[in-house]
Amino acid sequence: MTPAANPSLETHETALRLAQGIRKLAYNIWWTWNPRAQDLFKALSEEAWITSNHNAIAVIKALSTDELVATLYSKKIQTLARRVIDEFESYLEDENTWGAKHCPGFAQHPVAYFSAEFGMHESLPVYSGGLGILSGDHIKSASDLGIPFIGITLFYRNGYFQQHINGEGWQEESYPALDPHHLPVELVTDANGQPVVCKIRLTQSDITYHAWRLQVGRCTLYMLDTLRPENDLHWREITARVYGGDQTTRVCQELMMGVGGVRLLRALGIDPGVYHMNEGHSAFLLLELMREHVKAGVPLEKARELVREKAVFTTHTPVPAGHDRFSADLLHHLIPHWPEDLGLTMEQFMDLGRVRPGDTHEPFCMTVLALRHARHANAVSELNGRVSREMWRELYGATRQEDVPIGHITNAVHVQGWMNRVTYEFWEQNLGAEWRKHLKQADFWEKVADPRVLSDEAIWSLRFRLKRQMIEAIRVRLRDQMLRIGTPVSRHYQHVLMPDALTIGFSRRFATYKRATLLFGDIDRAAALLNDPRRPVQVIFAGKAHPRDDNGKQLIQKLWQIANDPRFLGKVIFLENYDIQVARYLISGCDVWLNNPRRPLEASGTSGMKIAVHGGLNLSILDGWWREAYDGTNGFAIGEDRHAPDVEQQDAEDMQNLYRVLEQELIPMYYDRDGMKIPRQWIRRIRRAMVTLIPRFNTDRMVAEYAEKYYGAIPSEE
Ligand SMILES: *Cc1c(COP(=O)(O)O)cnc(C)c1O
Repeated sequence: MTPAANPSLETHETALRLAQGIRKLAYNIWWTWNPRAQDLFKALSEEAWITSNHNAIAVIKALSTDELVATLYSKKIQTLARRVIDEFESYLEDENTWGAKHCPGFAQHPVAYFSAEFGMHESLPVYSGGLGILSGDHIKSASDLGIPFIGITLFYRNGYFQQHINGEGWQEESYPALDPHHLPVELVTDANGQPVVCKIRLTQSDITYHAWRLQVGRCTLYMLDTLRPENDLHWREITARVYGGDQTTRVCQELMMGVGGVRLLRALGIDPGVYHMNEGHSAFLLLELMREHVKAGVPLEKARELVREKAVFTTHTPVPAGHDRFSADLLHHLIPHWPEDLGLTMEQFMDLGRVRPGDTHEPFCMTVLALRHARHANAVSELNGRVSREMWRELYGATRQEDVPIGHITNAVHVQGWMNRVTYEFWEQNLGAEWRKHLKQADFWEKVADPRVLSDEAIWSLRFRLKRQMIEAIRVRLRDQMLRIGTPVSRHYQHVLMPDALTIGFSRRFATYKRATLLFGDIDRAAALLNDPRRPVQVIFAGKAHPRDDNGKQLIQKLWQIANDPRFLGKVIFLENYDIQVARYLISGCDVWLNNPRRPLEASGTSGMKIAVHGGLNLSILDGWWREAYDGTNGFAIGEDRHAPDVEQQDAEDMQNLYRVLEQELIPMYYDRDGMKIPRQWIRRIRRAMVTLIPRFNTDRMVAEYAEKYYGAIPSEE
């Protein structure tokens, strides 16, 4: 009897094959942007899925092969598994990608993208904020577009901190250890199965490191790790935490990433065509590339030119103090041999990172090093470009900012990665299964303007489903939060937040310039605004302050106090431990996304871009991306396209403008209902937001723009 003729055996073989497929799938975080793949892992072990913070590896480690195969005998699970694996395989095998058409030659010389943080999923907390989220979204879209692309970062074993708010409303931090064996990463090994180990010299010591590989769809992210037995204890700690430790740790981390990253690529036989530095943290890679040329006998000036041909640099930081600067003493202590390797004196070496060469008081600035040696440099929004050009005018000896060669590419988000299942299915139903392939096509999204394609009722229904999902998730988290700090959980907490009330979200890092408490600048006015019984409003806050930023922590405490004020109880919520998972709930459930930074300090901002596909609307200062996106019909603006020169005046004006737009425009519009209780005007704005924002502020557009302008891809015709 042939196997095919035995239905039982056939079932068994199918299950075996699928089980293998599932294991492979777990090690490729493509599943983080496919809700059906997540359903599959959840169906295999709901407990492992939830307790591990949605980690597919935890799920497959929880099931023995026998159990996994037996589970796959179920028709229902088998159908789901087959569908997901088919989708995954056709994704990997697709030869008809944007990159295949526009990026010939990249396969031999891929883009190497260096970033100090990559925010990709809640189970991998190796990012601190927007910069990391941007890197994560960049590599995901590079994969979707089919661009040969490699990411380089550090493997932070203790990651970024988990936030707890204590009984006084004060932020406390903990750093759980990440175990690579329970993450979707694999040790990078050579042909003999031995770990690839590289070396870097710091002070007089040779530090060794290995790397972990994370598969991101078609792309690979390498994460460098100094936790090796032969390293002294303090060297093992270099890669422990995101932006951890003091200046010395910081230089070591940056040397590790820049120099160490290039050496790893060499050890793997990879010869990138482009080195893209996301912020100045990785700019030491330029020195390593120079050193390679000098060692091969190329004169330094020529070496610098050769390096420049391959380097691309993105700067985000709009204030001078935000750029990394290191003293000559520190660099001399850590890398005493570097000047000589390049044929330079220490002072000449320092000059590579100085605005004014020869000024011995000036420290070594990573941004200057990068700007001097990048063939393209860019900021991350139009206004941020102007600010950056102004800030670096002196470096270029330019009298006008327009003459400084720093361009801009506005940031964006990886839309699918920010969706939950409800939204994903919503778009599949309304625009067809292929919608993801048309993300950056404006004419495709025009359809959404047509109520016959997408009805008001469908949009309104989506809003309520997403809002309830968020509110129920928040109630569970709040209860856990109360139980932990020992506050009695009153019945009240089961009724916190009302699905019918206008819900405003504010979550981001608690840096002071973001002014988290602006809405409460006039507490009585805020109370009146939130407590109108006919037009209730509620606000949800979340966000982490940097562990050393007491001002940021005070803002959190103030919000915590407001949340506990009887006037705001159940209407103002501070949710602890903002991360990608919390973000995913908030950006989908909130009706309005509030952003009120001190202009022009929000380089771009990306969280507001995540809400358009969920039917949320932005209410924001005209800073960063929103200044380019707002057209009067697709959301709300606080103030105008200018700002007062004086910070106090700016804060006062912005507060008045915020109240005014809420009281006079936004809240009335939300509560203006027809006979079916539908706010038609409001929905018209949602529709406009979808049509105008989705095709522009997605990373497919952004990465294609980088590829065409800076990476050397063949430009599209449109
Ligand atoms: C999107 C996101 C950010 C960045 O948001 P901004 O609006 O740029 O401040 C930071 N952290 C998390 C968890 C996010 O999801």
